[in-house]
Amino acid sequence: MDLEALTRLESLRVTAQILDGKATAAKIREEIALEITAWRDSGKPAPMLAAVLVGEDPASQVYVRNKEKACQSVGIASRVIRKPDNTTTEELLELLAELNADPMISGILVQLPLPKQIDAQRVLDSVLPLKDVDAFAPENVGLMVQGRPRFLPCTPHGVMQILSRYGHQVAGKHVVVLGRSDIVGKPMAMMLVQKDIGFGSAFANATVTVCHSQSSDLASITRSADVLIAAVGRAKLVTADMIKPGAVVIDVGINRVGDSLVGDVDFGPVSQIASAITPVPGGIGPLTIAMLLKNTLAACRLQHSSSTN
Ligand code: NAP
Repeated sequence: MDLEALTRLESLRVTAQILDGKATAAKIREEIALEITAWRDSGKPAPMLAAVLVGEDPASQVYVRNKEKACQSVGIASRVIRKPDNTTTEELLELLAELNADPMISGILVQLPLPKQIDAQRVLDSVLPLKDVDAFAPENVGLMVQGRPRFLPCTPHGVMQILSRYGHQVAGKHVVVLGRSDIVGKPMAMMLVQKDIGFGSAFANATVTVCHSQSSDLASITRSADVLIAAVGRAKLVTADMIKPGAVVIDVGINRVGDSLVGDVDFGPVSQIASAITPVPGGIGPLTIAMLLKNTLAACRLQHSSSTN
């Protein structure tokens, strides 16, 4: 955590443990880089991530650039395929068929959102499940729900990493997940109710409640949470009166307010009641990218083993 961030935290009189996603992600990236070196030393090809970027959305451009840089930092090759805003669904399907068939490409990501004229579901569904490093494909979702994941979806996987690396066990605890999207809320809940999703039984076996925009009396539910995971996309929705004293609070939300980014949690007041909390920025965001790298290496290993069997 840099000096500016530390000064900001001091001025807020934070008493909770700060779960530092930036530092944790840096550590994970070091581990991945070592694994890739060993993989290459054994004569295997470098993993490669292909990112498909359609249109000129400035936020998407930044996300893709950050992913490219992250790949570089660990020894993953990357290829960004830029397509104009007026690309059709058929054209994208053709491109994805090529990427699916290319043996040099380990993982494929389609940067969202796609322009309106594109059938995003058809496009996402056309990514080969073995290269689906975002873990959006129905086959990969199904495997995860059955407790035998091929890839874990990046953002909830990042949450599991931070909980397990800081030793915040969830077994037998009440975890409340705010949000039920296919990308964050639903897979998060599914991972937490498993008997073991790859982090040991202490980091699974939770009693999970999922809330959404139609849930009534949110505060009474969140106040019973030992662990609260907010993935809504509403700035400061979670206020201090919604927190059980000593709870662990994970803020997945990223909301632009003026020139700054804030989470779904009202960080200052909540951090005086919670026992541990992730900041925004510097929390789950960096871990999401680290998990994409992890999945790309895993995809490379899978493809290599299936092509040599
Ligand atoms: P999403 O698809 O818009 O889903 C938001 C969810 O929040 C929906 O299930 C919605 O309920 C629920 N919701 C909306 N208003 C609510 C309210 N007042 N009370 C309770 N629930 C409410 O968003 P998402 O893709 O899951 O992303 C959620 C947030 O996480 C966003 O801020 C996004 O930017 C951020 N995010 C961060 C990362 C990261 O790397 N840190 C990655 C992905 C997303 P309904 O289903 O009823 O509409």
